[in-house]
Amino acid sequence: MVQTGLTLAARMGRLGTETAFEVLARAKALEAQGRSIINLGIGQPDFATPGHIVEAAVKALADGHHGYTPAQGIPELRRAVAADLHRRHKVAVDPAQVLIVPGGKVTMFFAIMMFGEPGAEIIYPNPGFPIYESVIRFSGATPVPLPLKEATGFALTADDVLARITPATRLLILNSPANPTGGVVPKAEIDKLVAGLARHPHVAIMSDEIYGEMVYDGAEAVSLLTYPEIADRLILLDGFSKTYAMTGWRLGYSVWPKALLPHAERLAVNSHSCVNAAAQWAGIAALGGPREPALRMVDAFAQRRGRIVAALNRLPGVSCVMPGGAFYVFPNISGTGLDSRTLQARLLDEAGIATIAGTSFGAEGEGYLRLSYAASLEAIDEAMARFGEFLAHASR
Ligand code: PLP
Repeated sequence: MVQTGLTLAARMGRLGTETAFEVLARAKALEAQGRSIINLGIGQPDFATPGHIVEAAVKALADGHHGYTPAQGIPELRRAVAADLHRRHKVAVDPAQVLIVPGGKVTMFFAIMMFGEPGAEIIYPNPGFPIYESVIRFSGATPVPLPLKEATGFALTADDVLARITPATRLLILNSPANPTGGVVPKAEIDKLVAGLARHPHVAIMSDEIYGEMVYDGAEAVSLLTYPEIADRLILLDGFSKTYAMTGWRLGYSVWPKALLPHAERLAVNSHSCVNAAAQWAGIAALGGPREPALRMVDAFAQRRGRIVAALNRLPGVSCVMPGGAFYVFPNISGTGLDSRTLQARLLDEAGIATIAGTSFGAEGEGYLRLSYAASLEAIDEAMARFGEFLAHASR
């Protein structure tokens, strides 16, 4: 951090970051010097937003949707979200409980800030999306890591979660399918977890289901929404960034228990006021329009997943479990003799491959690397060839 003569709030020193954006900046800088860089770092689909969604936004602007909208989101989009959740999970969601937000990240910020303060404990997956731990620390709460292990396909076990709950636990963060590992929690384990949570009614749950439509080989991404017994303490995080290739639109949504929605809405009024109006109309087109573009994307990811996992497992010192969802692989690189951060830096500088060190997702990520396979098959093949060359010739 750059030092300033000004006095910042102490909490600013506790805020972490998402290394993916730093790696992206370094990759762009190397490209600007004429280097060829294959970007398997950043987690965003390499597809364009489907045309009918773009057209809906253009039409919204032409139709004069230029002003503020209700802080909670336009009713038409909240109804479309409820209808989509019904289509996917067969649950009835009241549109009055839906909050439209500028990206999935905003839901986690709101949920963590709503519950986090000194003395409070928040359980979060590790390795996991780095912003969970960052915002927990920012809030002053104590982060309680839930280690996710390769041996269980990076899926949590109910016993591990329940063993970490104390009277001070306020919030439990779940993420399946998961970033950075692609792990998917089996239904039996979620059943067991929800049954166990009955003994801990003081614990709220935030379920990050942003990769919920990206599962492979018939795996099932079970939504926590399908458990009515926790409906009064469940916050659902979902959005448009991944499913509809809309990362730059900044559009997401959350479902809140009735008692929490006014607090979340107040956080919205105090921060962003409302989400970009045209983006909200685009969201309606995304949810109500043809499903083929999203399905085609998942088919492409499925093919790339097979390709990259096979290639990684052929590299000396590298082994990779087959992830059940999302668009990431999390190979074990401990056999290369390099730690995660060194390998990330050297792959970028010496081989022109942008990846993210496992430690960017928490201390439990040492010995691993995250690669996003939201890249063409050609790019994946080339990256794997360069990775192999690097391992064959790199000095240790
Ligand atoms: N949750 C997880 C697990 C993610 O991986 C991401 C983005 O990478 C988000 C939430 C945030 O999504 P958005 O870009 O919509 O803010």
